Amino acid sequence: MIPLLASLGIVLTGGIPSAQAIEIIHPEKFTPDEVRVIQKIGDAFAVELDALKPLPLRIEKIKSTDPKSSDYTRFDGRKQRVTISISRAVTDINVFASTVCHELGHVLGGSGPVTADLPDAQAMREGIPTYTNIEGQADYFAAMKCIPRLADVLPPVEPHSLCQGAVDEARCSLVMTIGKIAINAMVDRRNQQARKDGIRGQLPRELDYGDRSNYRLPLTTYSGYSDDACRLQTWKAAALCDVDSWVDFSPTDEDQGACVDGAGMRPRCWYLRGSTPLTSPNGPRS
Ligand SMILES: [Zn+2]
Repeated sequence: MIPLLASLGIVLTGGIPSAQAIEIIHPEKFTPDEVRVIQKIGDAFAVELDALKPLPLRIEKIKSTDPKSSDYTRFDGRKQRVTISISRAVTDINVFASTVCHELGHVLGGSGPVTADLPDAQAMREGIPTYTNIEGQADYFAAMKCIPRLADVLPPVEPHSLCQGAVDEARCSLVMTIGKIAINAMVDRRNQQARKDGIRGQLPRELDYGDRSNYRLPLTTYSGYSDDACRLQTWKAAALCDVDSWVDFSPTDEDQGACVDGAGMRPRCWYLRGSTPLTSPNGPRS
């Protein structure tokens, strides 16, 4: 005889429930912690995701296709769907959360002055809205709007020394800690790939918030990936920005929901307020 609760358990585990606002493709490929993060994102961004209709957001796990950037957002032009694809190589729950948040930032990170063209020719030909935000903005969104809203499904963190005196020390510490974990996970992946490829010489080392970006100050906002130290500065800025994480960025006002001066503003290594984003002429210093 099967007790009621046990049979209920079988029902629940037979099909892991997807978040309402996010469709999980092959939920059995995700761990319970990952499903919790996705469901929390679905709850925390229910209003914003609802506004995406007719573009229901989907999330899937994929084999890594690119060792440098193993996770990406793609748009299915024909089905008018946004799909977030997460590499199976992502195993740490903090890295998973920050990766999903970054990809979500391409969709919900505000647009207007911080929007780049979607490199999906088919969707553009068919006039499908693309909702693509630039890399730096996706990071700023992940750190400022997304990770803080997931606090209760992520592992607890220690108070961070850079957050002493912050208005919300717990939120600041969470963002500082996860930002460092996320950026250094990319450094690790690149190092592993370099070793596999037999590349000799100095491999990138673990970065911290004191490390300076190797990028010139941009003449206009840069739409591509800046270097790791610059990306880490974006996390730091988001951690130190006191604007409420529940105030969304705006499609028409780049200042809404953001810090426009002080330590919390988007860092100058990729962002120039009021400028048009470009795949920039600003390369690394040589
Ligand atoms: Zn991205």
